[in-house]
Amino acid sequence: MTGQCLCGAVRFSAVLPNDTIQACHCGQCQRWTGGGPLLAVRAKEVAVEGEDHIRAYHASAHGERAFCGTCGTTLYWRMQGRSITFLPVGLMDDQSGLRVGEEIFVDHRPAWLPEWPEAKQHDAAEMQAQLQAFLSKGS
Ligand SMILES: [Zn+2]
Ligand SMILES: [Zn+2]
Repeated sequence: MTGQCLCGAVRFSAVLPNDTIQACHCGQCQRWTGGGPLLAVRAKEVAVEGEDHIRAYHASAHGERAFCGTCGTTLYWRMQGRSITFLPVGLMDDQSGLRVGEEIFVDHRPAWLPEWPEAKQHDAAEMQAQLQAFLSKGS
């Protein structure tokens, strides 16, 4: 897939291993996107052009949220110091063939937002356990 920020200063190319969009309802993502969940696709082999324009914000002890310093577009979330594994679906030039297959932090979903009935649901406690398991591997 290819994609870019609003102003075009930052461009991506990546391989998508599946057709799943993940919706993250956590409070940080709601503020970060300005409304609703962060809708992102799993991405591999992410290549970035225009890295000079990227600004990063550490909203938590482990996470890094990156945005375009020129246009403010939400670019990616990743574990600090690790490779990019999720890209917002709205950056992509072609969004065909994708579906919302997973919702995380569902206990933080705002009441006005309907759920995706076919998506797998994970609450904050499950996500916290996953993070702990990942961190304890120490890789
Ligand atoms: Zn930009
Ligand atoms: Zn989130």
